[in-house]
Amino acid sequence: MTSQTSRKGIFRFWFDMLLWKQIAIALVLGVAFGIALNASGNPEIAASIKHVGTLFVSAIKMLIVPLIFVSLVCGMTSVSDIGRMGRIGLKAIFFYLCTTAFAIVIGLAMGIIFAPGVGVDLSTAVAVEPTQAPPFIQTVLNIIPTNPFAAAADGNVLQIIFFAIMFGLAINLVGDAGKPIRDFFESLNAVIMKLTEIIISFAPYGVFALMTWVAGTYGLQLLLPLASVIVAVYLGCFIHGLVVYGGLLTIVSRLSPVRFFQGAIEPMIVAYTSASSAGTLPVSIAAVQQNLGVKRSVSSFTLPLGATINMDGTAMYQGVCALFVAQAFGVDLGMSEYITIILTATLASIGTAGVPGAGLIMLSLVLTSVGLPLEGVAIIAGIDRILDMARTSLNVTGDCAATVIIAKSEGEIDMEAYDTPHVMKTPELRDA
Ligand code: ASP
Repeated sequence: MTSQTSRKGIFRFWFDMLLWKQIAIALVLGVAFGIALNASGNPEIAASIKHVGTLFVSAIKMLIVPLIFVSLVCGMTSVSDIGRMGRIGLKAIFFYLCTTAFAIVIGLAMGIIFAPGVGVDLSTAVAVEPTQAPPFIQTVLNIIPTNPFAAAADGNVLQIIFFAIMFGLAINLVGDAGKPIRDFFESLNAVIMKLTEIIISFAPYGVFALMTWVAGTYGLQLLLPLASVIVAVYLGCFIHGLVVYGGLLTIVSRLSPVRFFQGAIEPMIVAYTSASSAGTLPVSIAAVQQNLGVKRSVSSFTLPLGATINMDGTAMYQGVCALFVAQAFGVDLGMSEYITIILTATLASIGTAGVPGAGLIMLSLVLTSVGLPLEGVAIIAGIDRILDMARTSLNVTGDCAATVIIAKSEGEIDMEAYDTPHVMKTPELRDA
């Protein structure tokens, strides 16, 4: 009886806890369990636990296409002023480009300070094929889907954004005749947001499984030889998040950065464990709207766009890795090479898909642009998942920060919601 009561007490305690705390605990437990499995020679158990994480990530991915489309259509119909929509778009692109270039500079600085490539032997590396950047004009031409259903089936976010904007615009332009469809989308949006909430409430279990898998597969000993690359990327992400986003939020928007990071913690952790910013999109949308009070008119546009083109973490990682490879091969880089790295890494990060490992493939583009040997990519590949987690988390944090800053500048933020500590939880499920 007593043990049953205490078990009930533990369950109650767990289910009453705020979601971000559950996720944070799951993360720590997953690392500890994974390291224990690795140390006891059981990495295959960690690999089988990964399936739980895969289920969670697939469930979030299931939401991406309907969520982007429906929330963007609703976002469009809630702003009837077309000029305003254009202004939000321009602000977002400007913010994304500037912060990305800044991230690479921090990455290069980390590479110079930590000198991670000094003393690394690259002689056993395997050859790696360079990646070709798609021609710029092709990227632009691709934005218009010839078949919106194919765009949805392929999960092509830019094409879905384009079609949703045009569709929402047309609903606005038809006036009263568009009211039934506007109401339909409002109702559909409420349903999809509820579904998102339900799936996100399973995040702690997905996060635990994925962390167990990563820690169980890598263990501590595998990480040590390249520890300085890991430290340089992690510290760079940390500095960029804290100084650049924190500074912009404080100085430009006069908003509390502490509240921002509290409100964005769920997408930051889900991005960290899933290593996919596109996959985290539903969590970012829910957190920014519910925890930080951003109106849909801004977030439904800036977040999907950011998840596609804004990758500050990826850009910073490319800066660190370019220096790592240069140092490991004893190549001296001059000012013009540094500028080339900043330009190509900015473009490469825009072209990087928000999926695990995409940044590593684009790294070969950056290395090729300054004539660095591609064998370095193979060495980085060994620890890429660990780096991917940090850079994806920064990528997503950047999208959320841009969204909050732009929403504030447009007066599209509910300050009471922003200032109220954490709300994201799923009471219906908890009380069930
Ligand atoms: N995994 C990253 C993301 O989804 C992209 C990358 O590999 O850099 O944002």
